[in-house]
Amino acid sequence: MFNKYNFSSGKDGLHILILGGVHGNEVAGTIAQRKIIRQLETGKLKMKSGSVTFVPVVNEAAHRNDTRFVDVNLNRVVRFHQNPSNNEERIANCLVKEIDNCDFMLDLHSTHCEGDTEFAFIDYNTARNRELLSLVPVKNALAGWPEIYAKNGAIADYCTERYAYLNNKAGITVECGYHKSPRAVDVALNSILNVLTHYGIVDLPRSKRNEQNVINMSSFVVKTSAGKLSRNYQHLTKIKKGEVLARYDNGENIVAEADGYIIIPNHNANIGDEWFYLGYR
Ligand SMILES: [Zn+2]
Repeated sequence: MFNKYNFSSGKDGLHILILGGVHGNEVAGTIAQRKIIRQLETGKLKMKSGSVTFVPVVNEAAHRNDTRFVDVNLNRVVRFHQNPSNNEERIANCLVKEIDNCDFMLDLHSTHCEGDTEFAFIDYNTARNRELLSLVPVKNALAGWPEIYAKNGAIADYCTERYAYLNNKAGITVECGYHKSPRAVDVALNSILNVLTHYGIVDLPRSKRNEQNVINMSSFVVKTSAGKLSRNYQHLTKIKKGEVLARYDNGENIVAEADGYIIIPNHNANIGDEWFYLGYR
């Protein structure tokens, strides 16, 4: 279903799982993993304890088409499917086995717009997840994703983080920046190397720790008919109470209920897609 690369030190220790390409067109994590795999294969980077599994491209069919997914969004169906009925459900059945086998999971994604800034999701505020978060080189982290999905009920939240959490694993998602920017590859590279170093997997000098600004997400908006965002919002643009965020062609406006942030706006969202998220303070 997907290619995976296992490296074991032959010594006791933790098992780390690194994922890329859960969304096929998000290549920063894929490129970064391939670089580190090469370094491990050539001996330039040495194992110290425990083991690591890399899956540079989880959704290979989507990756070949340079699309987010083939049939359904994989990061909404990450659970075991008794009778998988599409490409992503079949992948999910392989992916959950990899998560079952790990202690810590780092899921590397990237975002739609040029100039997007890097950030992380910490869906479950556990001590191990906060530790993992402190190892990734991003300034902002978003919390509250499962709660906004539960509140809305529109789209089931079967993401990698949730599966990890429910199965007692630590796991966070890093959005490394714009898919095709070299900076996003660096964010992915440093995230992986910091995590592998901190948990004693590879033999490198000490990892850098970071402190993040954690923003609580409060809701999201699904695009229900034709319309446009009211301006060229970027991820984490600050918004003011009463500001018109988006206009539907039928004349209806979506207005900010409080001061806060607009989160991962998708200017090219199709009808039925998540259009943007909101974080209020
Ligand atoms: Zn993604």
